Amino acid sequence: MRQKIVAGNWKMNLLKEDAVSLASEVVNIAKDETPSDVKVIMCTPFIHLSKVKSLVGDAANVFVGAQNCYTEPKGAYTGEISAQQLASYGIDYVILGHSERREYFGESNATLATKTDAVIANGMLPIFCIGEVLEEREAGTQKEVVEKQLSEGLFHLSAEDFGKVVLAYEPVWAIGTGKTASSAQAQEMHKDIRDMVAAKYGQEVADATSILYGGSAKPSNAQELFAQPDVDGGLIGGASLVARDFIEISKSY
Ligand code: PEP
Repeated sequence: MRQKIVAGNWKMNLLKEDAVSLASEVVNIAKDETPSDVKVIMCTPFIHLSKVKSLVGDAANVFVGAQNCYTEPKGAYTGEISAQQLASYGIDYVILGHSERREYFGESNATLATKTDAVIANGMLPIFCIGEVLEEREAGTQKEVVEKQLSEGLFHLSAEDFGKVVLAYEPVWAIGTGKTASSAQAQEMHKDIRDMVAAKYGQEVADATSILYGGSAKPSNAQELFAQPDVDGGLIGGASLVARDFIEISKSY
């Protein structure tokens, strides 16, 4: 059975007090309501990670993730945070290759391959984002786009290390736009992605890979998305900032 995951991407949102109250609320509700076979992950801005980690405490199904890390382990890289530093705070997951990082910070597949290595080498798990922009979808090239992102960003990994990766298919035209991919569009791409993984690593590895959908997922559409055979959960932006909505999504399997 593949791991079911609902990961919240807080992006660059929330001041200290609001971050503490959201994280506390998520932990409290998730403990009681989220099915025990679903992992709930809060991916917070760096500055809140340590506090959120301590609020999660020993909750069995709640985890903490960062939204990025640097390629190098330490040194004169002012303003950056390394995978090694994140691991020293007990952080469990790191989102890599989010479309906002690719677009605004010029992150290439090659850079992301190095970041993936750093995350895995430090015992954390990458949530690796792939997905096409609107023009690519309109041109019908979405499959080629994700295939390139996978092959250049991840397919250098050994099968054992690839087994640590969580994939997130996020059509960029659906992120923060209120425009969700239909469940049929999501399923078609998730199946294609799983086939690409199978072609590289074999069916057993592909069948064990969790592929999350991201792009305007919310309580009202999560159930239909998660009912698709190749959709194993969600990477949730806007709706992860409201504890009740986020947890409702985690109950949508
Ligand atoms: C995201 O940022 O990864 C995302 C999916 O955002 P939203 O849910 O707001 O579309």
